[in-house]
Amino acid sequence: MRILISNDDGIQSPGLRALVEALRDYGELWVIAPDREQSAVGHAITLSEPIRLFPWTMEGVDHVYAISGTPADCVKLAITELMPEKPDMVLSGVNRGENTGISVIYSGTVSAATEGTINDIPSVAVSLGSFTSTRFEPAAEVARRVVDLVIARGLPADTLLNVNVPDLPLERLKGFRATRQGRARFQETFIKRADPRGKIYYWMDGAKVPLQETETDSAALHEGYVTITPIRLDFTHHEFLPELRRWPLELHAEAKA
Ligand code: MN
Repeated sequence: MRILISNDDGIQSPGLRALVEALRDYGELWVIAPDREQSAVGHAITLSEPIRLFPWTMEGVDHVYAISGTPADCVKLAITELMPEKPDMVLSGVNRGENTGISVIYSGTVSAATEGTINDIPSVAVSLGSFTSTRFEPAAEVARRVVDLVIARGLPADTLLNVNVPDLPLERLKGFRATRQGRARFQETFIKRADPRGKIYYWMDGAKVPLQETETDSAALHEGYVTITPIRLDFTHHEFLPELRRWPLELHAEAKA
């Protein structure tokens, strides 16, 4: 079994370390992660500058690299260039902070897993429901169980699993909930300041908007459940497509008349 592990918090992240520790006895691990934090870069890829590779050391892991790119770059470079054979699975995380609802769109963590799915490799993203906690071990243990299930059951084509774990000790986690992606989002605020030379800059901040959702990733996570959400590559709103086709979609209506 050959597993590729990446993240968006960077190669030095304790969440990445916890995931590596948990998966250590699963076979050949490859750790290829950004050389710095790349949270919220989404599925960005690097085209306008080189991608640098820095051999790294991590106890007990043979193949560890930090790269000067995004999470999607990490998985692309690993699969097409660095690894002699495709991995059997791609894992991303454990991320510092939940990736539920609308955050999935911005998440570099989810994007590393998405890149695996694009390459037809079963892929799982794992995030911890806290931006301040250092308790990554329960989430890493959950990741192990999910990996076992994916090995046993497989995943449908073009589908990845997005797993979010409450910041609780393992024995206090209420169990798994298979959920849909919700609509939870952050309301951004911009802090406006002056730099030492008097130039104005902005720094984005935000707070989660409270929502009365049920049966979503965000809602179940905050009830203390590990959430597991199947995410697909296809963004198409299939149910709306027939209605859309009934729109007068004519570019040259007057020529026809
Ligand atoms: Mn992150």
